[in-house]
Order: sequence, then C-alpha cells, then structure tokens
Amino acid sequence: MKSFAVYIESFGCQMNKLDTALVASALQDAGFRLAVGVKEADVVLINTCSVRQHAEDRVLSHLGHLKHLKEHRPDLVVGVIGCMAQRLGEKLLEHGAVNIVCGPAQIPQIADLICQALAQNAKQVAVTEKIRQPVQPGDGSLDSFELEHSSRDGQIPGQAFVRVMRGCNYFCTYCVVPYVRGPEACRPPEAVLEQVKRLADEGIKQVTLLGQTVNSYKYRKGEQTYCLADLLDMAPRVAGIEWVRFVTSYPADEFYEEILQVMADSPKVCRYLHMPAQSGSDQILKAMNRHYTAAHYLELIEKARTVVPDIAVAGDFIVGFPGETEDDFQATVDLTRKVRYKNCFVFKYSPRPGTTADKHLADSIPDEVKQRRIVELLAVQEQISGELNQAFLGRQVMVLVEGPSKKAHVNPTGSDDHPQLVSRTSTDHIVVFNGPVSLAGRLTQVRITRTSPLTLFGESS
Ligand code: SF4
Repeated sequence: MKSFAVYIESFGCQMNKLDTALVASALQDAGFRLAVGVKEADVVLINTCSVRQHAEDRVLSHLGHLKHLKEHRPDLVVGVIGCMAQRLGEKLLEHGAVNIVCGPAQIPQIADLICQALAQNAKQVAVTEKIRQPVQPGDGSLDSFELEHSSRDGQIPGQAFVRVMRGCNYFCTYCVVPYVRGPEACRPPEAVLEQVKRLADEGIKQVTLLGQTVNSYKYRKGEQTYCLADLLDMAPRVAGIEWVRFVTSYPADEFYEEILQVMADSPKVCRYLHMPAQSGSDQILKAMNRHYTAAHYLELIEKARTVVPDIAVAGDFIVGFPGETEDDFQATVDLTRKVRYKNCFVFKYSPRPGTTADKHLADSIPDEVKQRRIVELLAVQEQISGELNQAFLGRQVMVLVEGPSKKAHVNPTGSDDHPQLVSRTSTDHIVVFNGPVSLAGRLTQVRITRTSPLTLFGESS
C-alpha cells in the first residue's frame, strides 16, 4: 500500500506546537510519512491560531495558494486543525481548498479523517459543538492521545513540552481561547509524570509544563488536591530531567506562594516567570475582565522577587484596547518601568469575533495610535532589558544549548568546528557563544563577555 506523505504547518502558541508534534507522531504511527514541503505532500495540514486577526489572515492567504495548487493537483487533501477550525467550523469547508476541519478536542480522530478524505476525496468535519461542556468523566480520549504519542517535536534538541491542562475559565473580554479551547481541564498528575519519564528516557533534559493559565492547575484525587507546585516538585525528580519550566501564569494568589517556594527550593525549577499584565491601568484591566489591579500585580512581582531573588519576569501587554486613553497607556508604561521585565511581548488590540469586547466595545483607537504606543513601550522595555543584561557581564552562567545560531551574530572567534551556538539560561536569557555542535541538548557553563538588550554573548568555560 502506498504510504502517503503529510506536510504540517503550524501557526500560533506553544499549545499549537505541542498539538502539531502529537499529530505528527500519531500520523507516523498510523503509517503516514512526514513531508518537508507542500510539493512532496499528499496531505497538507494547517494547525491554526485565532488569537489575532493577523494569524487568521495568514492562514486564509495560505489556503488561497493551496486552492490554486489544487487546480493542478485535485487529489491533494487539505485539512485545517486547531483554534480557527473550532471557531469557524463548517464555514471553512466552503473554502475551495479545504477537505477536513478538525477542532483541538478532535485531534485524536485526525488519522481517520485523513484516510476517509483520501479514499473518497470527500469533505469532513469534526468540530465539537460541546466545547464549553466540562470533560465527561471517563472521557480520556485526549489524555490517551497525549500519552500514546510523542510530544517531542525534535525542533530543539533535549527539550519538550508537556501539557498539564487545557482550556481556560477566565474569559478576558478580548480573548477567544475559552471559546475555542473549552473550560479548564487538568490532566492527572500521574499522566503528566509518566509523560515526563518517557521524555527523559528519550534523552530530554528540559520539560516545559504548559497551560493557558498553568498556575491554576488543580487536580483532586480522593482527599488530596494537587497544584502546579506539586508537579514542579515531582517532575525534576525524574532521572535525567535537569530543568523544568512552566508557562503561562495568570496574576492570581491561589497557589502562588507554594509555586514560588518550590522554585526557591529546587535548583532544577527554572527562575523564570511569564506573567502577562496586559495593562497598567485599572480601568482597562476592568474592561478586559482581568481580576486584579496594577498595584496587586506589582505586589505579586515583589513577592516573587522576595522568595526567588534571581527570578526573571517576562510580561505581555495589549495596547490600544477600546477606550485606552493616553493616561491609561502611561499607566502601562509606569508599570513596565516599575516591574523591570526581562522582556515583554507587546501586541496591538485586534477585535476577535464572538468575544465580549468585540460585541460591546468599539475598536476606538486608531491604528497609528496603537502603533505609536507599541513603539514607545518597546523602547522603554529595550532600555530596561539592556540595563538588566549589563549585570551579566563577566558572570559565569549555566546554559542549555539549543544548537547552531540561525542569525549571523558578530563573533570573530568562530570556526567550522566551533560555530555560533544559541543557548538559554534558567532565567530564559538567550546566550550566544562558539562551541562544538555536539553540545546541542546539553548543559554547559558560559562566561558572559558582552551584552545587548536582547542577547548575551559569551565564551565556553
Ligand atoms: S487568561 Fe484571559 S487571555 Fe489568557 S487564555 Fe484565558 S481568557 Fe485568554
């Protein structure tokens, strides 16, 4: 029988990358081959993101190219999976290119859907309409899918992601995630640990525990309630695991001290906290339905720095949310200055269909104002990152090596056997140095000799 080749393209967050890895592994287990490009593929899968309009536009443009291609190759099967598949459902099947639409909760069925589409050149849809209903007791299909297939995508040697929970209960007014990923559903701690053990047996050194609001992880078993701190305590004890990270955290009190304490106690839990503030203005935070004030957010950061003094904090902001005045924006700039983030991800507000903000608030801030605010905030952050990075000068740091650098950083000591390598510290600082490629996937010591706002440069020591 012919072995069909599948090309998978992935957009969006780490959650999507993880789903892509699982789907790739499941399809290989079902007898498919992975293609390196559309040209060699019998099947093209696009794993989509709905968080911003820009991400959906890119997928639509890609589908436009595939529709064109299908005029010459009518047998090509095209599937859309992920958040956009869930959001648009059957409407996507009206697109001339699309054969399969499969929501995130349906990915265990993907191999069957592809086989049916290949056999009949038919249109298939597998989007659940019950996405906001809690997972039914005994419905372990997603859990078994995660356990059966590898979440190691091989992109970065020695590293893998492990999902600890799906979905979100927060309903920030601008966000589509609770609608497309469903309510919070936490995986049993033993399933998470089994996956970590398997990855460690495959040579993985660092696992990143993933959840949209990973710090709200909670799993009740008999009398006992497990929280993220328990996972952070157990995962580094697995033989072979050197570092454990977790993303993304919601600014909340529940379990916060326990999580910080386990970070302080275990050198294997990375000193990195990604905790989006989204705005520094209480008025905007309220309109976003974020359940904290700027002052409370700052208290949480101060607590983190008291318990884990060497922690690095990263943040996210949305600028140009409906009604954001210059004063509101300046409150965001003030918060950025007070927190002194290691780095910040800044996005322009983009209305997402179906969300509360889209239904009730006009997208009132002109694009040029959003653009100016992004540039101003990033300039403030760049200065802070530059100052913080200077403190690394002359220091010896432990890094986990990712592999050869894709960018040509200026470093005159490079040679063919010692190309520029990219690595990260426990605090998630990027370190570039020259060394043998055999270091990829391993921990090593580097002495920092030069710094810039985005990158630290060093020498192997
Ligand atoms: S916490 Fe808010 S922004 Fe994050 S996934 Fe949930 S609804 Fe979206």
